[in-house]
Amino acid sequence: MLKINRSLITLLFPAHCLGCEKELPQPQTRRPLLIGKIRDTSTQGSTFQDSFETHWCLDCWKRLNDHTPRCPKCAATVAEHNVLIDRCPLCRDLDLKFDSVVSVGDYKCLIQELVIRMKNQLDEQLAVQLGNLLGYHIHNSDIAGELNLIVPIPTHWWRRAKRGFHGAEIVARSVASACEIPYSANVLRCVRNTKKQGTLTTAGRFRNVQNAFGLRSSHSLSGLNIMLIDDVMTSGATLSEAARILLKAGASKVYTGVIARGARVS
Ligand SMILES: [Zn+2]
Ligand SMILES: [Zn+2]
Repeated sequence: MLKINRSLITLLFPAHCLGCEKELPQPQTRRPLLIGKIRDTSTQGSTFQDSFETHWCLDCWKRLNDHTPRCPKCAATVAEHNVLIDRCPLCRDLDLKFDSVVSVGDYKCLIQELVIRMKNQLDEQLAVQLGNLLGYHIHNSDIAGELNLIVPIPTHWWRRAKRGFHGAEIVARSVASACEIPYSANVLRCVRNTKKQGTLTTAGRFRNVQNAFGLRSSHSLSGLNIMLIDDVMTSGATLSEAARILLKAGASKVYTGVIARGARVS
């Protein structure tokens, strides 16, 4: 078999940034440290760094590396002085069943463009890399050591058959692989098709997803700390309803992870 030198391949097919399509520098000329804040210098830490360097330019990385203060419950952005308050005004009156949300950033600018591209173009490579980014945020969060299982939010079989692509599942698998946490898509299922949440009010969204999920199998979830993954969270209704089912089945805690935290709805 023809052996091709790795540096020749890189020269012939240079990598491009997933955000802006700018050509990325050759590996030997890359920045020594792209990641400003990483929990450790372990193999996992350098795996994140390698992956970021080969998929994002420095400008896009800075736009994705969001450290805005967020509500600990729903991940909405909050003013600096509000950080220590338990719940923000957006979620204070909502009965959210999950414990907290980890997100890459807000559903705007580059993150919004990437999520839309992932869904519209059924872009698996982008979904994997967005999952890797979310995995990095989870790896750096306080709950990283507590998680036992990663579960994607399910989609109805009809929607799935129509699109042939389930972004949340690819993102969740990528998170699980990046964080070295077990993954299963066989825990939850959609028991009925729901209206699209986008056109509904917050109260309407909670009503729309009521009893929309069930358990797929009789797996024991007793005592597990589960992280539910979706691409975007706006009101939190879908993730909360799925969390309710997992808690009812014995899960000890349910956390959620999303690529983007959507804007407020009325
Ligand atoms: Zn870029
Ligand atoms: Zn909140």
